Amino acid sequence: MRPMTKEATATRVELGELLPLMEEFYTIQGEGYHTGTPAYFIRVGGCDVGCHWCDVKESWDAAIHPPTEAAAIVANAKKYSKTIVITGGEPLMWDMNHLTSMLKAEGLQVHIETSGAYELSGHWDWICLSPKKRMLPKPRIYEEAHELKVIIYNKSDFAFAEEHAAKVNGNCQLFLQPEWSVREKMTPLIVDYVMANPKWKVSLQTHKYLNIP
Ligand code: SF4
Repeated sequence: MRPMTKEATATRVELGELLPLMEEFYTIQGEGYHTGTPAYFIRVGGCDVGCHWCDVKESWDAAIHPPTEAAAIVANAKKYSKTIVITGGEPLMWDMNHLTSMLKAEGLQVHIETSGAYELSGHWDWICLSPKKRMLPKPRIYEEAHELKVIIYNKSDFAFAEEHAAKVNGNCQLFLQPEWSVREKMTPLIVDYVMANPKWKVSLQTHKYLNIP
């Protein structure tokens, strides 16, 4: 088979038929509503949100992650788990319709972890919205989100969390999660906050305590 031209590759990336795949792995969901349940993670490269505490900065540059056939990603994923989590990077930088249609056609549960900074595409069973101050979510996702997970890095993030809780739909589950590098300082504040404001729940990065990816 002839190698694809740069233009043909770019067109297929635009359509979501190829995605810059950074890594994929079978593990335990460590955060939020589905904590403790097995899932196959697909990490798509590319993010320009620029959180200074980001723990996957190597995902930011999409160009270093190989454009990978969505069909090949699906063929691999379905061998491992009934639950697939698409994460990044920021997966909504890419058109997710193609990949998620194929995953759904296989009868899989399809979840996303997103900042919401780009327009929502794709077919999702679970949307975890984790808004970031540097690029706020697009309006539509507040109606669609099943889970709002706000990362607490400093005290002002509690007010940020409330701003976003006021925008999500009434069924959305609310989580506060300490940023890993400041967890010792922020976790006690989150515990107090959740006891005083019980609409929230605590989320911890349990995969890091378990020493798994
Ligand atoms: S949105 Fe996520 S991947 Fe992007 S910089 Fe922030 S934490 Fe990192």
